[in-house]
Amino acid sequence: MIYRKLGRTGVDVGVVGLGMEYLEFEPEETVKSVVHAAIDGGVNYIDLFMASPRVRDNFGKALRDKRQKVMIAGHLGSVMRDGQYSRSRDNQESLNFFEDLLTRLKTDYVDVLMLHFIQRQDDYEQAFNLDGLLGQALKLKQEGKARYIGASGHNVPTALQAVSSGYIDVLMFPINPAFDTLPEEMLPGVSLKEILDRQAPSAAVETMPARKALYHECAAQGVALVAMKPYAAGVLFRENPSSIVLTPVQCLSYALAQPAVCTVVPGCKNVAEVQAALAFLEASDEEKDFSAINRNPLWKLKGSCMYCNHCLPCPVSIDIGAVTKLVDTAGLARSSSVAAAYKALPVKASACTECGSCVERCPFGVDVIANMNRAVAIFGE
Ligand code: SF4
Ligand code: SF4
Repeated sequence: MIYRKLGRTGVDVGVVGLGMEYLEFEPEETVKSVVHAAIDGGVNYIDLFMASPRVRDNFGKALRDKRQKVMIAGHLGSVMRDGQYSRSRDNQESLNFFEDLLTRLKTDYVDVLMLHFIQRQDDYEQAFNLDGLLGQALKLKQEGKARYIGASGHNVPTALQAVSSGYIDVLMFPINPAFDTLPEEMLPGVSLKEILDRQAPSAAVETMPARKALYHECAAQGVALVAMKPYAAGVLFRENPSSIVLTPVQCLSYALAQPAVCTVVPGCKNVAEVQAALAFLEASDEEKDFSAINRNPLWKLKGSCMYCNHCLPCPVSIDIGAVTKLVDTAGLARSSSVAAAYKALPVKASACTECGSCVERCPFGVDVIANMNRAVAIFGE
């Protein structure tokens, strides 16, 4: 496994994690086989948002003797009503389902307690106050039933508010090339059909600037990004005349290249899908190369750095992706840790000889030399 820090918590987390959503209706044996394949493969971060008793019981059985090997992300505000999944902003109802989670998982705590699905502004206002779910989560943390507090959602403005609140250490957010290039007016609430049906823009687009700003804000604040929906619910694997097909390894590579992302939690419904995600760990640079997204007219990302390092090697050994990620964070969000991270780089942007070989190799048309100059202007070396 490859490990990254879960943001400012400092905990080591494997870059390949697991989401449980496709296991909700699967039998106990399938849940066990998937969870065990993941843990045996080094996965140490598993997200379970569902409230249905069956999947909770099955996950609990799968975790027997293995609880200490994984971080569990559980959700506050995910409930069942009349046999169906529902979101709740009611403290008592949410607490009941959280206690039910601990009981069924046969554990005393979750590692990350997610304020579940904070989507619209009214959601944020209801949940992020001390009389609401946030207050409840802080109390559970104090009681030792949660180690860290996080939030999940799909909406950039509310996610940004959650990150800026200072209360959360982890943000779970969908990250994939299909969503990252959606026009802002299509969000929130865009359907998969709309994603598939949308027309290609006449010119190449940048990663949606607001999404990029969110990722950098997380990096600046030390909030760990947990990337969900790395396959865009399968859209990225679907063949159609206007699209290219990515592999799971390419999708994970894309998500893990984004600022602040520490782990990706693909939903896997069988062992083969777990293995397909774990293949990232052994994949060659060629297999991880996701620049093919540029061949899809819907996902062209002209001029926007993806931090993928497809432009290497650099004759003076500058880590171009790392330098650009830091300079972009510094340009979009205030942070004292960014300067320290830059200082720690073995070769600074000032070593750039402007040879231009990286510019020729960059599949996204990034002006690397301008970025190196920007780094020198910001960091002074
Ligand atoms: S400059 Fe281009 S190739 Fe290099 S890290 Fe950025 S997007 Fe990737
Ligand atoms: S232009 Fe600068 S950063 Fe790019 S390969 Fe040459 S020396 Fe390295």
